[in-house]
Order: sequence, then C-alpha cells, then structure tokens
Amino acid sequence: MGATKCVTQMFQNDSLNSLLYDCLTLTYNAIHHGQENGITNRKGMKEFYRSLKGLELPSCYKVAVISRACAVLDSRKKSERRGVDARHPTPLKPAVCIISGFFITAKGRLFIPLRKRNEYADVVLNHHAQERLEGNELRSLTITQGSLSFCYSEEVEPSPVRTVYGVDRNEKNLTFGNVESVTQVDMTETVRIRQATREIVKSFRRNDVRVKRKLASKYWKRCRDRTNQMLHAATNLTVETASRNEAALALEDLTDIRKMYRKGDGQGTDYRFRLNSWPYWKAAQMLEYKSAWRGVTVIPLTKSETNGSSSECSTCGERLHSPEKGDAEHRRMLWCQTCKKWTDRDVNAALNLSERGLARFASSLPQPAGRSQQVYLLAGDKGEAVEAVKGNPTQTVILRVDASKLGGRNGPTLYSAGHGPST
Ligand SMILES: [Zn+2]
Repeated sequence: MGATKCVTQMFQNDSLNSLLYDCLTLTYNAIHHGQENGITNRKGMKEFYRSLKGLELPSCYKVAVISRACAVLDSRKKSERRGVDARHPTPLKPAVCIISGFFITAKGRLFIPLRKRNEYADVVLNHHAQERLEGNELRSLTITQGSLSFCYSEEVEPSPVRTVYGVDRNEKNLTFGNVESVTQVDMTETVRIRQATREIVKSFRRNDVRVKRKLASKYWKRCRDRTNQMLHAATNLTVETASRNEAALALEDLTDIRKMYRKGDGQGTDYRFRLNSWPYWKAAQMLEYKSAWRGVTVIPLTKSETNGSSSECSTCGERLHSPEKGDAEHRRMLWCQTCKKWTDRDVNAALNLSERGLARFASSLPQPAGRSQQVYLLAGDKGEAVEAVKGNPTQTVILRVDASKLGGRNGPTLYSAGHGPST
C-alpha cells in the first residue's frame, strides 16, 4: 500500500523567483490559448508546447506550466457546466510543480534546474527533509516564493484485518466501532461554533459591503480552523483505535446527502444550516488519507450496501421505531419491537455498517482456512448475523468522547466511559 506525504522546507532565491514569475506569465498565456481554442486537456496543448521551442527554459517547467493551465481550464469548464460564474482572469500564485529535472545527491543537496542549460540552484536540504525523504520514492517538487515542498510516496505495510469498524457520521457526532465496543465522539461543538459565527457575521452593521465581506471572511476562517482541529482529533482517534485493534474502516457513501436539505424544501433556514454544517467529505477525506498512512484498510460501502443502515436493528434486522414527540428521555434513540429495547441511533448505524463492511470484506476473500470465528459467522446474511451476536455475550461497550477536549498533537488523552444503550 502506498501513502502519499509531503515535506516542506523554507527557501528563498532570487533567480528562482524570477523563473517563477516567468512561469506564471506562461501559465496565463497557456490558459488564454486554451480558452481561445476550446482546449482543456494536455493532449490539445501540443501546439502551445511547440510554440515554446525557442524559449530558454528547461522542458520540465514547460510541462508544469501546461499541466497547471489545463487544471485551471478543466475546473472552469466544470463551473460553466454547473452554471457557476468563473472568475476571469484567474488569479494565480507564483508557484510551479515539477516532476522531473531536479535531483538530490546522496549528501542531501538538491539541484533545481535554472533557465540556462546545466545551470542549477544548489540547495542544502535540512535534516528533517533529508530524514523524511530517505528511502522513499520522490514524486514531485513544488516551488513557491518562499518554500520548497516535496511530495513523496511511502510504502506502508497494510495491517492485518481482524475486524471491521463501522463509521457513522452525522452533524452531532462521529461514531465508530463493532459489536465489542463503540466509541462516540461528540461533535456538537463544531455546530455550535458555526452557529455562533453566523450570528456574529449577521450582526455586522457597517454600511460597506467590501469591509463587511473582509471581516466575515476573517471570522469564517477562524471558525474553519477551530472545527478542523476537532475534526482532526476525532479522525485521529478513529484511525488510531482501528490501527491498534487491527480493524478496517467501513465508510458510508454520503454523496447526495446535501440534496436532502436544500433551499425550497420547506425545512427552514436554521435547520438546513445545522444539518449542512458537518463537513462530511472532509471527514471522509481525512479518514482515507490517515488510514493510508497507517496501513488501515478502508472499505467504501456503496449506496445499496448501506441501504437502511440507520433504520434497521443491528441485532435482529427489524425495522426500528422513532420515539414519540416530546419523549425527552429517548432523544436520538430508537425502539426495537422484537428485542424490546432502546438503542442509540448512531451506535446502531455504526454497528450495521460494521456488519455490512464485514460481509463485503469476507466476500472479497478466498474461501477460508483459519478465518476467525467472528468473521465467519458475520459473513453470511442476516440470519447468521444474529447467531454471531448471540455467541458474543458481552454487551457492546460504549465510550463517549468530547471532540473539543481531545488532545491535539499527542493524540487523544481524555476518555470518559458513558453508559451503554438503556434497556
Ligand atoms: Zn432488534
């Protein structure tokens, strides 16, 4: 399994800077060329590449310029298709990402090609960058005005899969686990922060749109930074726990979830704002790349595989009932008629996802010799799943964690064990 990572070193050089600005000008030219001829891919840019022939510039920069221009053109095309106004001219930062032409010597010196042939910028890499890059495959080098950034891929040993954790995401919490234990990370704080920011931005009384917009963007950035930190803490905890317990993560496909809460659906602005507050894709993205770094397997479940995961009982498969209106004791709980008990809806969803992920994982394996008993029992249809749970007499342990109190750099520190689902 290959995991992509990045390491950055601060660096400034005048001749490189002037090269960057030349590349920027060329990028704009390429975008212009693409727009005039309706080109959005690199294949169509052959003519433009040929027109650069007389230029004193290493070909790695030319390729980089064209790639970047094509990326801009492509995203513009997408915006146009969606009916969104694309800004013109596109403001770009002076940066260039090259995939060839540069090299690192054994002593940790980096040579970046300059304009003339056999002329190089000579950089001594710092200890950190050297250590990170050693023994790994170098992918690309991104040069900006003040930094050099390497992208490299690292071979990660995939960890064995003993069990599957279902991951349920919603605007209130992040829940993950299997029948043995479920951890619920409270994310209500992120919604509260967003709501508070919205109130602050609303309260601006200044009669100047530009100043207002600038102030608002400052507040929204702060909001984003704060919620991102919690999201990082929660996803770190998820991936670390999964890695420690040799578990794979089963993720739900949540594309189209935004379509459930859209303007004109008669749901009210505040309700829509709250439900659309959770950055679903961001959480999924973080889980995916962090899993890749640690060799944790991710099982992306399809829409049909997760069908009914939040409305069926994870123990017996019976359809669950919502509590009556005004039943404060059983908020976010569901009633199972067959098992005669209340279960937390998010815990139930996570268990269902775990079970379905396990079914998928088991079906992708060759028929077993020495597969663990639990996998074997859970692998079949619903009927077998009941047996597996029966054979596992311990009740699911539920841990409750507050995302805003999770430790940052050194991983999670604060745990508080809550009560299981009331029976
Ligand atoms: Zn049941």
